[in-house]
Amino acid sequence: MGLISDMATREGDATVWNLHLRRELFEWEKLQMEKLMEDLQNSVFEGGEDRWGWKWSRKGIYTVKSMYKELWRERQSEQEPHLISMEFPWKKRLPLKIKFFLWTAYLDRILTNCNLIKRGRAVDPICSACRLSNEDVTHLFLHCSKTLEVWEYLLRPRDSFYANIFAADSIEEWINAWPVGPTTELGTKIWELLPFATVWILWKCRNCRIFQSKEKMVEAIVVEIKGTIWYWLGIWTRRNHYRFQDLLLNWEMLLKVP
Ligand SMILES: [Zn+2]
Repeated sequence: MGLISDMATREGDATVWNLHLRRELFEWEKLQMEKLMEDLQNSVFEGGEDRWGWKWSRKGIYTVKSMYKELWRERQSEQEPHLISMEFPWKKRLPLKIKFFLWTAYLDRILTNCNLIKRGRAVDPICSACRLSNEDVTHLFLHCSKTLEVWEYLLRPRDSFYANIFAADSIEEWINAWPVGPTTELGTKIWELLPFATVWILWKCRNCRIFQSKEKMVEAIVVEIKGTIWYWLGIWTRRNHYRFQDLLLNWEMLLKVP
């Protein structure tokens, strides 16, 4: 590590830089070096000791948040529109464990059969529910025939939206396209949590099928999803104005939009 004063000398008004590089630059680094020199020409120096600073936070101190924001900004500027929605699961009122799960699912890091193979494990790539397609994140959560049945069941009050699932290429795309919900108080709450609870329970059911050889019926999965939503709503003080029976029996009425 060197000091700035070792690398820069003042000649009149100009600063002359010699960075003492230990090797020749590769071709692809030359542009970066030019850019660095350009940046250095524009810097203003003041007296005092050299110190490290983190340029992406106002106080110069590293925080995970500032790093996250910066990475996020960078990715957006690279115009990868499918990544744009990545920010939102953190802001939802979901248990931290679920947020983390969603995050890894969005990044395609959860251990589906396809991802296990990518990591060098010798497993059968085929989806254990339908045995028709390889089990990757999109198949498991969107396009598997069993999964489709679950979504279809849940989205009966919004059947025109359900059809969009076939066009979605990833879960973030699907969740990002989630339309505005019903206007009733309970309906709004349920609608917001529905995609997250569904993805979570589908994952749990998949694990139950693989590790405990238990296959759940679509109706049972749907009840589990409703139960999960109800449980997550426990932090909402007004939940005690409603009953779980409402979710079980009046689902369509609760989620219908006028
Ligand atoms: Zn399948």
